[in-house]
Amino acid sequence: MKRPLLKQTDKLIMIMVDGFGVPAEGFANSLYAEYCPKRFIDLLQNFSIPLDACLGVEGIPQSATGQTTLFTGVNAAEYCGMHMQAFPGPSLRELIRKRNVYSVLLERGYRPAFANSYIRHSPAELLELRYASVTTVMSESLPQGVFRLPDLRRNEAVVHDITRETLDYVEDLPKRDPEDAAFDLLKVVQNYDFVLFEYFMTDRIGHKRSREKLSGVLHNLGTFIAKLSEILPENTAILLCSDHGNCEDITTGAHTMNPVPMLLYPDTGLEKSSLFSIKDVMDFILLHFPDKRIEKNGI
Ligand SMILES: [Zn+2]
Repeated sequence: MKRPLLKQTDKLIMIMVDGFGVPAEGFANSLYAEYCPKRFIDLLQNFSIPLDACLGVEGIPQSATGQTTLFTGVNAAEYCGMHMQAFPGPSLRELIRKRNVYSVLLERGYRPAFANSYIRHSPAELLELRYASVTTVMSESLPQGVFRLPDLRRNEAVVHDITRETLDYVEDLPKRDPEDAAFDLLKVVQNYDFVLFEYFMTDRIGHKRSREKLSGVLHNLGTFIAKLSEILPENTAILLCSDHGNCEDITTGAHTMNPVPMLLYPDTGLEKSSLFSIKDVMDFILLHFPDKRIEKNGI
């Protein structure tokens, strides 16, 4: 059976939320429920499953290995022999460049894109400055490149913080409500089959253990996703995932070992799937995008 889990859906929006674990006390009793709209909590409760982010490797899960695992399908923590934090080093970059979700989708005849806009620096400059995240390294695979300030001015890209509040240094760029940013993301989806958006304020603020700042971050994220789910075209699905836990528990400023939610909306049988860890997400995505060359040749 083709597309057993995402039938009747032609496009996929993937939202990678950094440091967003499943709260031990349950979604309804968590910080998330305090600051996010109810619709987002309902989505998490009804359309998500928990995935392991520890990957069978000792220690606390980290971003470089967690995100490489999500976007390559290779257990990067096992590959490195440990969880690696922040930005990927040379060996992880090699792994990402060899095969990632964009490169496989392109080979199969689809159009992937990264919705985040790059303002100050291009991916090449970030690489030079040694500030290249997993998604920045991966963006080298995109033939069209990444979105920049002119795209943002046309509201055809999204800033990593959703609302543009961290872009005070850019002149004449109005702030954006999370609801409006959801429409902007859908504009990107019009031209592509697979669109990734990365949100990392959850991890950044989770480390600071500031309930006040976290309330704003969770509000923005929850409102953005809730709106997106409301205005989602029939041929599009949302897949939300995370690289490791963090902001669900502000008793610690470190990452957590909690599982992470994988939310799929609309869902057509996720709970019956064999997804176990964040390593399984890539294969799940690829199931949804069968190789067009094979279909065309009737093989
Ligand atoms: Zn972190």
